[in-house]
Amino acid sequence: MAAVDRSTIWPYDAQGEPGDFFYARDAHPTGAEAEARLGELEGGDALLYASGMGAETAVLLAFARPGTTIALAQGAYFGTSVLIGLLEPWGLRYVEYDQTEAPPPDAEIVWVESPANPTLTTPNWEPLRAHPGLVVCDATASTPVYLRALDEGADVVVHSATKFLTGSHDALLGATVTRDPEKTARLRLFRTNTGITASAYSAASLLDGLDSLDERMRRITESATEIARRLEAHPAVALVRYPGFSGLISFDVADPRAVETATRLITNATSLGGVKSTMESRHRWEGDRIPAGLLRLSVGLEDVDELWADLANALG
Ligand code: PLP
Repeated sequence: MAAVDRSTIWPYDAQGEPGDFFYARDAHPTGAEAEARLGELEGGDALLYASGMGAETAVLLAFARPGTTIALAQGAYFGTSVLIGLLEPWGLRYVEYDQTEAPPPDAEIVWVESPANPTLTTPNWEPLRAHPGLVVCDATASTPVYLRALDEGADVVVHSATKFLTGSHDALLGATVTRDPEKTARLRLFRTNTGITASAYSAASLLDGLDSLDERMRRITESATEIARRLEAHPAVALVRYPGFSGLISFDVADPRAVETATRLITNATSLGGVKSTMESRHRWEGDRIPAGLLRLSVGLEDVDELWADLANALG
């Protein structure tokens, strides 16, 4: 288990000058160690935040202006659209677009998600690379195991590290990664001054999670691929969405509440990316933005046949 430095202050040096660490809202050793590890995996400079939404808030405050139009991937994480909507009184505007096509040319910020949660589409990188705006990619469900979005052409990568990166449903944590020192400095300035810095405990959870990330993601993908295949053949399932990697599967059934409350091994709860599988009807949160029968399953590390037995029983 990673060590946690719980201090919020560190002494100045003999000349009275602050060193790398002086007040935990700015930076702390556990966070810096976790940022270095994540940055190495993504090929950029990582910063950690109190949550994924904290990371998203920092990106919007740092790079949007009154009048900025954000082109947001359709069917991407619901909370992102809610957050941008809340900032409309500050002069931000957003339009949704199909991320498998080219983004609107006049958007100052293009916000994609790979794969989109819960519709599980992936972005078309070719037109994104040619776009003049700031390209932000939420890579929460890919993790750097399946996507290094900076290599594909993103300017800023966002993660809810609450999910696969920590992997145990025990930490709220967000991250940004960029390759441009000016962008990193601007994000850090907003992080420190809004106070959305990650806790040392959550940073330690990321250090632990990264130790097993590769192995977890590969096993989760193996199980999810098999579960998606079996769901496709099940008569009670109308449509299965699975991008071919990672642990999210979205599938449509006639009565999602009946199915989600009937599982025993799979926890009926929100969130995703844990070693314990979770499943929920997203309609309760997103309303008619997504199909009424859509269930989002996040496959964990349980035995695949036991997971299937639980699902098949719930499906009836
Ligand atoms: N991005 C994605 C793709 C998510 O699924 C979530 C949460 O579900 C978030 C961002 C927000 O992250 P957090 O809950 O850590 O604030």
